[in-house]
Amino acid sequence: MTFRTRFAPSPTGPLHLGHAYSAILAHDMARARGGQFLLRIEDIDRSRARPEWEDLIYEDLTWLGLGWDGPVMRQSERLDSYSETLDALWARGLLYPCTCKRRDIAEAASAPQEGAPLLGPDGIIYPGTCRPKTHSHGHLIPRPSGALRLDMAQAARANDVYTRRIGTTRVAAFEELGNGEGIPRGLVEFTPDEIDRDIGDVVIARRDMGTSYHLAVVLDDAAQGITDVVRGADLFDATRIHVILQRLLGLPTPRYHHHRLIRDQHGKRLAKRDDARAIRTYREDGLTPGDIRRMVGLPQA
Ligand code: GLU
Ligand code: ZN
Repeated sequence: MTFRTRFAPSPTGPLHLGHAYSAILAHDMARARGGQFLLRIEDIDRSRARPEWEDLIYEDLTWLGLGWDGPVMRQSERLDSYSETLDALWARGLLYPCTCKRRDIAEAASAPQEGAPLLGPDGIIYPGTCRPKTHSHGHLIPRPSGALRLDMAQAARANDVYTRRIGTTRVAAFEELGNGEGIPRGLVEFTPDEIDRDIGDVVIARRDMGTSYHLAVVLDDAAQGITDVVRGADLFDATRIHVILQRLLGLPTPRYHHHRLIRDQHGKRLAKRDDARAIRTYREDGLTPGDIRRMVGLPQA
């Protein structure tokens, strides 16, 4: 299978050095292996996405010399696909509506009898306030539905989540090839107990979006035929959620390369609001794409 990767920025601010590192790494990997480098605009958060930021992404990538293959995928044009998939998960009894506010969740999770709230890849592990004892079936989600959560204990029971057995324990897995700090390389495996305990019922569709990052990224990687996901080490923990969704939906699991994060001189992760380190600013200051490669420790093109 031809190597195919993607760069998937959200148009909610200027690209900074961390994005440049991610995009250059993915692009160079694709070129070195005679593969493809695709672009996807992750614009499901309509309250934060702006056309100006999207235009700037195209400008910055072009200036960096990172040409992408094929048409650009935009998540805002894929809402039908997300909603069909939600109906399919609902029909399997894997979803339930949740009306909790962020504050209710924090309070329920830190109630004295609960001890310190447990943290999962999405923050505090949902204490299950809205989880039904039995799931209402039916083919379609009654709409409007509010937020939808994935019942992780149910998901952990589904046979299709697992790829092999060790003794009597079923294990799910993905291949990790990244260089990020603390990222284990090789086959990363996890068991039903770990799914049940460590992840929690994550939101799979937000009320205001009709989807979530997790659902969209899984469907879009499959739709774009991505074989290798190159992205920051901060997303390593969420990968188990993505693998569970891929397996439940019968989609292939790509290889993952969770790369190191670019930090400022104080060791702090770069954020969108650090405008001073925006690629555009360096561009306007007269730096070259070669200078950007040097700054993030990547070889010249
Ligand atoms: N849109 C995400 C971001 O900008 C990227 C997610 C991914 O690569 O899976 O952080
Ligand atoms: Zn709830």
